[in-house]
Amino acid sequence: MNQPTRWYRNYNKEYFQGLLPKVPVIWGLKMLLVAQVQYDKEWIPTKIWINNELQKWPALAATALLHEMVHIWITVAERDVYCQHGRPFMRTLRRLMNEGAFDRLL
Ligand SMILES: [Zn+2]
Repeated sequence: MNQPTRWYRNYNKEYFQGLLPKVPVIWGLKMLLVAQVQYDKEWIPTKIWINNELQKWPALAATALLHEMVHIWITVAERDVYCQHGRPFMRTLRRLMNEGAFDRLL
């Protein structure tokens, strides 16, 4: 298991009660985005891609990962695949912030 997948497992336990699906986190080469969730046809999350460039900045990579995990949480817990960065997303992100998820990253 690679490092970001280990982060994912730990964050899942710590901040999402282990309720997120066990998806692999993959360093993506030549990505145009910072990070991205990949879904299947039924909007089930299958992978998280993190831009390979962020390997140089683990704290930024972990921050991007938490952001993508909030997207997965909204998809799984709220059954909302189109919310993007709307209110449920921001509410969850704020919860993570209050619980200290970003304390050692930002
Ligand atoms: Zn986003």
